[in-house]
Order: sequence, then C-alpha cells, then structure tokens
Amino acid sequence: MKGCFITATDTEVGKTLASCALSLLVPDALVIKPVQTGCIREGERLAAPDVDMVVRCGGRAEALHCYAPPCSPHLALELAGEALTVAGLAAEVRARQAGEPASPVLVEGAGGICVPINEHESMLDLMQALDLPVLLVVGNRLGCLNQARLSLEALRLRGLAVCGMVLNRACPEDVCDPGCGEAAVSADEARILSDNVQSLTRLGERLGIPLLADVPWLGRLQAADGSVNAAVKHRLCAAFAPVAERLAQVWREQDREQDVVAEDLAFDRDHLWHPYTSATKPLPVYAVQRTHANRICLHDGRELIDGMSSWWCAVHGYGRESLVQALQTQAGRMSHVMFGGLTHRPAVALARELLPLVPGGLNRLFYADSGSVAVEVALKMAVQYQISLGRTKRRHFLTPMGGYHGDTQGAMSVCDPVNGMHTLFSGLLTRHYFTERPACRFDAPYDPACLEDARQKIASLRDEIAAVILEPVVQGAGGMWFYHPQYVQDMLTLCHEHDILLIADEIATGFGRTGKLFACEWAGITPDIMCLGKALTGGMMTGAVTLATDRVAEGIGNATPECGGGLLMHGPTFMANPLFCATALASVRELVASPWQERVQRIEALLNEGLAPCRNMPGVADVRVLGAIGVVETVQPVPIASLQAFFVEQGVWIRPFGRLVYLMPPLVSPDADIATLCAVVCRAVREGLIES
Ligand SMILES: *Cc1c(COP(=O)(O)O)cnc(C)c1O
Repeated sequence: MKGCFITATDTEVGKTLASCALSLLVPDALVIKPVQTGCIREGERLAAPDVDMVVRCGGRAEALHCYAPPCSPHLALELAGEALTVAGLAAEVRARQAGEPASPVLVEGAGGICVPINEHESMLDLMQALDLPVLLVVGNRLGCLNQARLSLEALRLRGLAVCGMVLNRACPEDVCDPGCGEAAVSADEARILSDNVQSLTRLGERLGIPLLADVPWLGRLQAADGSVNAAVKHRLCAAFAPVAERLAQVWREQDREQDVVAEDLAFDRDHLWHPYTSATKPLPVYAVQRTHANRICLHDGRELIDGMSSWWCAVHGYGRESLVQALQTQAGRMSHVMFGGLTHRPAVALARELLPLVPGGLNRLFYADSGSVAVEVALKMAVQYQISLGRTKRRHFLTPMGGYHGDTQGAMSVCDPVNGMHTLFSGLLTRHYFTERPACRFDAPYDPACLEDARQKIASLRDEIAAVILEPVVQGAGGMWFYHPQYVQDMLTLCHEHDILLIADEIATGFGRTGKLFACEWAGITPDIMCLGKALTGGMMTGAVTLATDRVAEGIGNATPECGGGLLMHGPTFMANPLFCATALASVRELVASPWQERVQRIEALLNEGLAPCRNMPGVADVRVLGAIGVVETVQPVPIASLQAFFVEQGVWIRPFGRLVYLMPPLVSPDADIATLCAVVCRAVREGLIES
C-alpha cells in the first residue's frame, strides 16, 4: 500500500496541519482519519473537524468513524457503546485504498502514538497492522525532546519505518503553550525552541530519521467561521515541501521493492543453503516480509494462513506481545553472559517454572542451545551414567525405526537409518541398534506383540545399551506416526528391568501439541531423561533443555575419577542464554495461563472434520489426527514444489514432505482458518495435485 501514517508526540501538536499541507502537495493524496473524536453535530451528520479542515484547504479527506466527545478513541467508543478493532480498521483502510490504488493514503492517527483504541490495542498497533512509513510530528515546546525520543523508541520497538520528523510550533512563541505552563514563557523560550531544532536534527542524523521541517507558528489556518487563510496555507505548503519530497522518495524506493526482493531471492539462490535442499538446484523459496498472529505476509502482498507453526514452534502464533516484550526487556538488561561460574535470574526462573510442569522426578535441568544439542547432551548423560556405575561397555543406544532426533552427529546416529541416510555417513556415525517402528496405532487397541522385537534386542544387547531413545507417542519428522502410549509405558518397564535408561525426546511433542502438556503424560510415565525444545520459546528464539532425574544426575555426579570424575562433559557457549530463558519463561507462562487444552481439543475436532473427506480419495494411504496435528499420508511421494506453489496460491502455508501433507497450526488459530487449511488440503488431494 502506498501511503504514510501521520502520527505525533501528543495531541494538538500539528498532525492535521501536516495532513492539510501534504494533501495539497502530494498528487491524488487521500487523507483517511480512521477514528475522529470531537466531532460537531450538524443536523443528522457528525462533522469531523480535522477532515473538514483538509477539505476546506482543497484536499481530499474522509473519516471512517466519528464520535462527538472530544477524547481518546477508546473512551469515545465506550461512551457510544461501540467497539473497534485494529484488524477491522486496517481492513477498512485497505479496502478504501484498493478503490483507488494509485492514490497515496495519508492515514492520520488520533492523539499521540500510544493512544488506546480499545482495552488491548492502540494507535501503535494500527500503525503496525498497516505497516506504512510513519511521519512523526513533534510539537515544538519545552519537553518535546523527551516526547520525541520516547515516540521514536516505541516506533522502533515495533519495527516500524519512520520516514522523518516534523517539528511544529502550534502556537505563537510568546504565548504560553498549554503543554508547558507559565515557566516556559520567558526569555529562554526562544533558546529552547531553537535548541529543539538542533537537538532533533542531531538525533535524527544519528538514527537515520531526518528532521524534514521546522515549521514556525504561521498564524491560524482556519478562522472561527471556518474560512481558510490563504497566506497561512501558502506558507504551510512551503514549509512542508521537503516532507512531500521525502515521501515521494520513500514511495520510489517502495516501487523498487519488488526488484529488491527479486535481488534478495537471486542472492539467496546463489549463496544460502536451505534445510535439506540442493545448493545448486534449490527448490523455490518465498520471501516473507512480516508475520503476525497466525499469518505469514509475503513481500508480494499475499498473506498466508500458517499451518505449520514454523515446525512445531509458534504455538502462540507470531508477534505475541508478552513474548516480544520479554525479549526486549531482557535485551535491555542483559543479553548474554557466560554460564560457567555465573548464574542469573532468567535461568533460575525458567527452571522454576518448568520443573513443576514436567513429569514428576525430573529435577535436574541442562540448558542446551538447540534441540539437536539437547539430544547430544541426553546421549552423553546416559553413557556417563552407565560409566559411573562401572558399565563401561554400555555406549550404544536402542531406538525405534522411523524416529527423528536432530541433525548433529550423535542425534543423527539415532535417527531412522533410512530417512537419516546412515549409509551416506557410514564410518562417521556410530552404529546403534534399531527396533521395529511401534506398530500399534494410537487409536487402536494395544497389542503387546509390538514390543516383542525390542524385548528380544534388549535381552541380547543389554550389556551394550546405555539407553533407549524415542519420541513418545508421536514420531514427528520421521513420518508423523501416532502410536499407542502403552508402548511407551511398557518400554520404560522393560528398560528398568535391565538398568537401561529411557530418553524421551519431547522436542516436537512438548507444550500441548498432542493434547497433553507432554506426550509422556499419555503413558503416565517419568522418563529418566527428557529433551524439550521447539515450542519452548514459542518460536521466538532457539534454545532447548535436557532434564534428568536425580538418579541420573547423582549417578554421574558421584562417579569416581576412573569412572568419569563426576563432571557432565558439555557446556555450550550460549548455555542458558538470558534472552532465550526470558522468552521461554514468558512463553511457558502464557501457555499455561491459556485455555490450551480446550484449544487443542477444538483444533483436533476441526482437523478430524476437515480432513475426513480425504480418507476415501485416491492416492491417500491414511488420514490421522492427534491433538493439534493432522496428517494426510499419501501413497506416493508428493511433488513438493508444485504442491507448495498451489498452497501459496490458495493463501495457506503448508510444507509437505515425502509422503506427508500435514497440519500443525498455531494453537491460537481461528476456527475458520483451520477449516480453510483443511479445505485446501482436501482440494489438493481431490484435484490430484499430490501426484507428480
Ligand atoms: C526438531 C527436533 C529435534 C532437533 O531440534 P533442532 O532444534 O532442530 O536441533 C530433535 N528431536 C525432535 C523430536 C525434533 O522434532
């Protein structure tokens, strides 16, 4: 959208003057006032004073919502018994602009930048939703440097592009400005005003946000009878000319935006590796501009419904306020400090929050920097535990086929040997032991025979095996397979009969995705070691944890020097990174306080209903749903690039792989969006797009 959001450091500092001038200086400009308060009743109509002023000057302007009380929008709305949302207002502005796409829209806020629109949203949210370049009008008076700096800070924290500032004197220099009281009417006044210009110029230079105009008091633009003073209007336009020039420049840059994106994509193709992709013949990628709630906005203006939660992570959707704030607040205080010899509140607070939530008995926590590293740590813990007991030969693992535990070498060595391409890395990866994929479906009666293979292998290999590692109940990247919880329970019993540890990799399943907070709860067990990651930070930061029982920690810790010496041999540089800890804490708190169980059940019902039509369609091998995970397994591998393109055309983000088209939307997704995701999958299957 071509336009600009005109905001100010306060109310009554000159936004409307800016609108008037720019409506005349910018060809075809349309001023839109989303909410106008302080309207005057003229018969049937509520006259919007700001809009009328622009129109009287000869510009074009419209108010979308008018209210009589001269107060903040939230109060005017409350008094009128009405409610407006930022999403609704943004949609109205967009719709208005769509009618004349060539006309730049100048959206004029109400009051200062944080003025509330409703209980939860402010003008700042509207600016973010519209994502227009922002023009900040600063009232030139005592105190304005503080206001300007605060305003710029708030805009920056929302990732908004401020195209410039205008300093405006809203009253004669020798008149007491209502904003600054008697004290300001003094001999120092002139000095203060001229210093404001210099200080803001320097600040602007430092921040790359130019002070575009210093507008002195020009006299009243409008007389009491509403007539416009032509001389004042003329001077006003002259003063704002550099602002119009700057906007024209910003829009020229915006027009070039598609070229810039094309250059980015070309650079990306030539230099960047993407996951599991060829560097020389990569599959196409889509350029994302921003994300919000459960939406991914592409640079070409398309907005996609997210069906992936960015690989299990974004349970709260994107841009969740509490998470963003936690990250920013922590960054302001301490971004990182080594964890060797030091500790800090975020690390302790996150552990305090997590330990009561995880299966009882997991009392020891290791901070890792990604899921794969958490798995490496778990494997080391298991081996060190066995060594500490003098069982030095127990250096191998047993794991079900079809598993996925990460991409680092140790983790890879326990991934499915075929999916994980073990032959490719033979010699590099330690050979471990594999047992049959848990055959018993989650939704079928349990058959103890499905554990028989594991039972035999453990009996014969027990002296070599340190631990069994598995993804409880849901095998994720290895095939999106849901199996019976009893298998997990029986496996634990089996392990303990032979002093073998059980490692539960809950990096994908943790934090509610399967309908329980942790998938181990389906089986009612406490594993000896557990890995968490992915949704731990709500998708904001990388970071993971490995948890262990006291038995494991004490075993390792009490080892004699010949048996490892008691030190766990791991310590990542970014261990317990405070930004990660603070964000994870906010995310876990947000999740636990939310009705996540209801949400998951609701999504489960919608996925069941929405994907059911696929069941009997040709090319489909299986349809299964568990919690907020919906899977359509196909007979043949799907053509990823063409299917991906179809999904994007249909306005959804779904990333299929292998023989799997699957959905795991953010838990906050609206029902209608889940229905759309399912409908698009059904359509792809019905139209045969799953076959190459
Ligand atoms: C994603 C995943 C991992 C690896 O986590 P990364 O953060 O990608 O290293 C490990 N185990 C499971 C079950 C996963 O889903």
